[in-house]
Amino acid sequence: MQIQFNGQRAVVTGAGKGIGREIAVLLHKCGAKVVAVSRTQADLDALRKEIGCETIQADLADASAAQAAAAKAVAGGPVTLLVNNAGISIPQSFLATTVEAFDKTLAVNVRSALVFSQAVAKALIAAKKTGAIVNLSSQASMVGIVDHTAYCASKGALDQLTRTMALELGPHQIRVNAVNPTVTLTPMGEMAWGDPKKSGPMLAKIPLGRFAYPKDVAHAVAYLLSEQADMIHGVMLPVDGGFLSA
Ligand code: NAP
Repeated sequence: MQIQFNGQRAVVTGAGKGIGREIAVLLHKCGAKVVAVSRTQADLDALRKEIGCETIQADLADASAAQAAAAKAVAGGPVTLLVNNAGISIPQSFLATTVEAFDKTLAVNVRSALVFSQAVAKALIAAKKTGAIVNLSSQASMVGIVDHTAYCASKGALDQLTRTMALELGPHQIRVNAVNPTVTLTPMGEMAWGDPKKSGPMLAKIPLGRFAYPKDVAHAVAYLLSEQADMIHGVMLPVDGGFLSA
């Protein structure tokens, strides 16, 4: 089984670092034309040098900037593959969670997925084309995690967004799924779980005994986007070494 995207345009948000970068490189290797959206221009420049992708710089925490970036991505040609990967985590205990951190987390992790998905889906429906969307959720959507109030709330919301999108976009042959990784070894994973006092107890709950690599997540995303997953729709796919079934 070989995944081949045959020149389809694939938008990846948060493609500058970590999981998003890994996804962008993998989709390129599978023959997609990648449109990379991220916040830091230097990351986008480095990625463009490596895979020759289109780049769009935007701060997706800003609703107008997110809408403008999505419109630009769609205006450049039909987007048949979309990965809503951009996400942030601002670890705070429940009692210390600030309104600012909560709003920003929801804006990036959920609202930007809504904005990009609406733009892509409207263009696909108008052009009578099919497509596939994957939302980067987390195991944190399904369990509570200490010091992750806003993050867990955002990923729970993203799963629900995925389900409603699947219901409404399915009749248009636009497939929508989510992947739900465990701790993944990226700059975000390092920031939230780098302290062995935190990582040890989490690792002990993963039956496979390790955290995920970005490639573990990228492979799952590429599969869900591919025609090999043509009948898979509305699922939340754990990429968690068994954490959620333990
Ligand atoms: P990461 O290492 O922090 O990389 C995130 C990327 O998204 C960066 O390129 C970042 O750009 C970009 N981004 C963040 N905020 C943005 C904004 N406001 N506008 C535009 N781009 C923005 O994170 P990651 O670990 O790869 O996580 C990727 C996704 O996987 C997220 O949705 C995350 O919640 C999810 N996830 C991660 C883990 C984990 O343990 N790492 C586990 C489960 C799920 P800048 O660096 O320029 O801000």
